[in-house]
Amino acid sequence: MSRVALVTGGTRGIGAAISVALKDAGYSVAANYAGNDEKAQAFREETGIPVFKWDVSSYGACVEGIAKVEAELGPVEVLVNNAGITRDAMFHKITPEQWNEVINTNLNGVFNMTHPIWSGMRDRNFGRVITISSINGQKGQMGQANYSAAKAGDLGFTKALAQEGAAKGITVNAVCPGYIGTEMVRAIPEKVLNERIIPQIPVGRLGEPEEVARIVVFLASDDAGFITGSTISANGGQFFV
Ligand code: NDP
Repeated sequence: MSRVALVTGGTRGIGAAISVALKDAGYSVAANYAGNDEKAQAFREETGIPVFKWDVSSYGACVEGIAKVEAELGPVEVLVNNAGITRDAMFHKITPEQWNEVINTNLNGVFNMTHPIWSGMRDRNFGRVITISSINGQKGQMGQANYSAAKAGDLGFTKALAQEGAAKGITVNAVCPGYIGTEMVRAIPEKVLNERIIPQIPVGRLGEPEEVARIVVFLASDDAGFITGSTISANGGQFFV
């Protein structure tokens, strides 16, 4: 029987590439999304991967959504916490709503998804929790105090939980992508991308979603059983920890 993998925000961008790469690697994959039904249905038709709609910022919605996935596919053995949003603003202009939306999705969402799945992973003595953080959680980014705080929080969460999961066969790791060519990044004005962002990337280009997806497939594999509490950067040489 193939292992079951659940990818949050798994219908678009990096998450879609992760869903497809895990499917290609033999996993039985479920892709969660928040509200973009059109994109999700197109993704389902194109890939055959079942899609499940709920908001990861709600604990109750996660419990219900995970129950549906598990009823259909079986217990989740690989959880990829990928769903994320930006609400960028300089700190003197940021609103409490912009702060809370990002913390609730990008940090609390990781708790809301991992907590209901954790006990089952412990009982089965196997699990993989892989969280997509960000270069901006490692180095901080002006205009992104909310996003940088949430993504840095994801790294602390990963290191703490790795210690709890180790004796139970559960690995917990994070991937920190740099700038990857998804809608999130394509939303940045082209002039800013070409004149300010890409020149800061030593390899001279944006990353591809598939380059992040291949790291996730490796971290999910049995070969990666000794890697836990780690942060793997994929940023074209832009930042070294
Ligand atoms: P996209 O905006 O392209 O896709 C985001 C996905 O997350 C969509 O499937 C979206 O669903 C889903 N999503 C958003 N909010 C929620 C929510 N509350 N509940 C459930 N699903 C949700 O993002 P990217 O692919 O660019 O980013 C993926 C992850 O990688 C994020 O965590 C991001 O922070 C991180 N990252 C991205 C980088 C980049 O350069 N792109 C760089 C570093 C990190 P729907 O389609 O329904 O809206």
